[in-house]
Amino acid sequence: MKSMASPVVGRLAPSPTGAQHVGNARTYLIAWLSARAQGGMVKLRIEDIDSPRVKPGAAAAVLDDLRWLGLDWDGEPVVQTTRWPYYQAALEELKKRDLVYPCTCTRSDIAAAASAPHAGEEIPYPGTCAQRCVADASALHAAGTPWAWRFRVRESPRFTDRFAGPCHIDLKHISGDFVVWKKFAPSGNALPPAVVEQGTPAYQLAVVIDDAAMGVTEVLRGDDLIPSTPRQLLLYRAFGLTPPEFAHIPLVVGPDGRRLAKRHGDTRLAALRAAGVKPERLIGLLAWSCGWLAKPEPISARELLPLFRLASIPPRPFVLTQELLHAIGYPH
Ligand code: GLU
Ligand code: ZN
Repeated sequence: MKSMASPVVGRLAPSPTGAQHVGNARTYLIAWLSARAQGGMVKLRIEDIDSPRVKPGAAAAVLDDLRWLGLDWDGEPVVQTTRWPYYQAALEELKKRDLVYPCTCTRSDIAAAASAPHAGEEIPYPGTCAQRCVADASALHAAGTPWAWRFRVRESPRFTDRFAGPCHIDLKHISGDFVVWKKFAPSGNALPPAVVEQGTPAYQLAVVIDDAAMGVTEVLRGDDLIPSTPRQLLLYRAFGLTPPEFAHIPLVVGPDGRRLAKRHGDTRLAALRAAGVKPERLIGLLAWSCGWLAKPEPISARELLPLFRLASIPPRPFVLTQELLHAIGYPH
């Protein structure tokens, strides 16, 4: 529990990779309510550094979506592509302390070296380059070989999630030594060529540096990110920073049980808005899915503040159906 002296600072961290959909809206609503219900601040960060799919105008669209939902934020949005020097300084710090090493493996090298076929997208890194040290990067540079920087994982920090409870994930089976700086900048990212050549900070590094710089005390996000949390905790430790509290919430899925995507129809907030759906009806549906309303009736985010309870959110994904969308006036 936070004392009066350390006010809660929550955050919304959208990736402007495409339009935000109903699933994103549910996570943002919960994160906003959690911070505001504790009298806390909400910061906004546009995570535009880690993706090849950042489209021009997408950041502005994110702000429109949030405003439409009735979710506000404190201060100016923080935009990752403007924070390059901070990420570089963080990498230098890790290099100075020999916590990272250069890895030249390609994705297929890693897949080929993996002992068993892996179901998820992520293959644990088998440690092929782990005998390298920081200084080996100069020879790679001279030879024109591109490399990524990997963080040496020596332990897997346990943590107590405010929603999911005690979590102990063995990083050996999930990520192994993980990338903190990628080999190349994503193509299509509007970065200067010199920067593209130097690669880009990986999500794990940027998120820790940014949350710490923004004074975030509470990270509330989708539970697909639970496996990232022990990695981020290792980075907090490495930098001597105090980590925030974490709460990971189940995602929204389609009737097939899979994460909300195009195959489930157009659930983009922009599409709902264009179809004339009132935001209060969507908020009501989401509030009902979280157990705060007995039925999906129109309500604003602000009106939900006294009803908000993290613990009443069901510990399983919310299944969004056509019928539910019809019922809030989305003729789709
Ligand atoms: N930008 C990420 C997303 O939109 C969220 C990352 C985070 O909350 O740490 O999925
Ligand atoms: Zn390697």
